[in-house]
Amino acid sequence: MSLFRKNLIDGEWVGEAGSRNINPSNTGDVVGEYASAGAEQAKQAIAAAKAAFPAWSRSAPLVRHAVLKKASDEIMARKDEIGRALSSEEGKRLSEGIGETIRAAQIFDFFAGETLRLSGELVPSVRPGVGVEITREAVGVVGIITPWNFPIAIPTWKIAPALAHGNTIVFKPAELVPESAWTIVDILHRAGLPKGVLNLVMGKGSVVGQAMLDSPDLNAITFTGSVGTGKRVAAASVEHMRKFQLEMGGKNPMVVLDDADLATAVECAINGAYFSTGQRCTASSRLVVTEGIHDRFVAALKERLEKLVIGDALDTKTQIGPVVDASQLKQDEDYIAIGSQEGANLAFGGERLDRETPGFYLRPALFTESTNAMRISREEIFGPVANVIRVKDYDEALAVANDTPFGLTSGICTSSLKHATHFRRNSEAGMVMVNLPTAGVDFHVPFGGRKGSSYGPREQGRYAAEFYTTVKTAYTFAG
Ligand code: ADP
Repeated sequence: MSLFRKNLIDGEWVGEAGSRNINPSNTGDVVGEYASAGAEQAKQAIAAAKAAFPAWSRSAPLVRHAVLKKASDEIMARKDEIGRALSSEEGKRLSEGIGETIRAAQIFDFFAGETLRLSGELVPSVRPGVGVEITREAVGVVGIITPWNFPIAIPTWKIAPALAHGNTIVFKPAELVPESAWTIVDILHRAGLPKGVLNLVMGKGSVVGQAMLDSPDLNAITFTGSVGTGKRVAAASVEHMRKFQLEMGGKNPMVVLDDADLATAVECAINGAYFSTGQRCTASSRLVVTEGIHDRFVAALKERLEKLVIGDALDTKTQIGPVVDASQLKQDEDYIAIGSQEGANLAFGGERLDRETPGFYLRPALFTESTNAMRISREEIFGPVANVIRVKDYDEALAVANDTPFGLTSGICTSSLKHATHFRRNSEAGMVMVNLPTAGVDFHVPFGGRKGSSYGPREQGRYAAEFYTTVKTAYTFAG
C-alpha cells in the first residue's frame, strides 16, 4: 500500500515516512504510513499557531462559518469512505465508523452555526454614565491531544469550537488512528483555513505531546485519554498557568431494578457494555442488578451475547469488531484473569477468537458474582468486559453505583418514575441515562463527567464556549 500522509505545519505538508498504521481486523493490512513529528516540529507548529492567532481571532464570523460549513458538507458527502477508513484503523464496525463520521459532520455544522450566534451582554454600571460590555474572546493557541477510540468525533468536538471561537490550534492525534485525523485536517485546510490556524503534528505522545505540555506558548490544552497522561497535562498546565480541560476514564454503572423491562435492560447492557468493542469511556462496565431480576437478566444477557457476531470491522454482518491493538488485547486478557483470581465467575466469553484474517479478536466477557470492591469493578478495562454486581434493592444499587473514583455516565433501567427521578438527581455522574445505554450521546449538548473522570468545563454544544473563550468585562464612561 502506497498511502503516505504528512504533517501540516504553517500551511505546508511536511515530514518523512515515520510510522505504519495497522488494521486491527487484519494485521497484514497496512492502512498507510504517516509522518512522525519530533519536538522541534511541535515547536514550529506552536510558533505558527501563535503567529496566526491575531488575524484569525479577529476574522469575521462569516469567514469562520464558511470553513466549518464546507468541512461539514464534505465530510457528509464522503461519509462512507471516511467511515470505512476509520473502521479500518480503529476496528469499530462499519456502521459505527460511518455513524461517527456523520456525527463529525453534524458537529462542524453546529459550530458553523455558533459563529453566527456569538454575542455578549451590555449592562448598566452602578456608576452614572458608565456602560459595561461583557464579551467572550478567543483564548489563544489551543493544544488538542486526543485518544484512539473516537478518531473523528473527539478531534472534531475540540477543533470545531476552537475554530468557531477564533482560536488557533496545534493538534496531536493518537498514534493508532492518524488517517482519521489527517482526513479532517486535510478537509479543513482545503476548506480555506489561513496558514498556521490549524497545525497537525502526528507522532509519539512522549515526544510531540510532551513538547506541547512543556511549551510556554500554548494558552490552553484540551485532552482526552488516560488518567495518567491527564495528570501530566494538569501538572504541566499549572506550571505554565494555562487553561486546561481533561476527559479521562469511566467505570460507569448501569442499574437494573426488579421492575425494569427485561428486553430494554438487556439491549442497554449489550449496547452500553460491548458495542464499539467496549472501548468507550462511557461504556457500562458495571451492571448493578437487584435480586428479583438478577437471574433472569443474566440468563437473557448470556443468550443475547451468544448471538453477537464478532469479526472483521468492515464485514457488514459484524456486530463487534476487534480490539484496537495487541497491547489493549493483553490488558483486556489480564483483567479477565484478574477477575477470575478475585473470585468473580466468568459466566461468558473472554477467549481469543480466530477469524479468516489475523486480528485482535476477543469474545465479549461477562462476569457474575462480582463485588464492587474487586479491581474489575474499580479500574477501567477499556474492552468488551463487564461484570454483574448483585444488590438487594434500589438504595444499595445507588450506593454501589456512586462508590467509584469515576463519574462520567450512569444509567438506570426501571419503570418506576420515583426511582428514575431519584437516580437522576442523586447519581454522581456528569451524564445520566434512564432506560438507555450509558454510552451514545447527542452532539449538541454538554459532554463531561465528575470526580476522576473529568476536569474543567464541559465539551460540546453551547457549553463548549466556556473552555474556548475567555470573558472580557469592558467599562466605558460616556459622560
Ligand atoms: P490511551 O491509553 O487511551 O492511549 P493515553 O493517555 O496514553 O491514553 O493517550 C492519549 C493521548 O495522549 C494520545 O494522543 C497520546 O499520544 C498522548 N500522550 C501520551 N503520553 C503523553 C505525554 N507524555 N504528553 C502528552 N501527550 C501524551
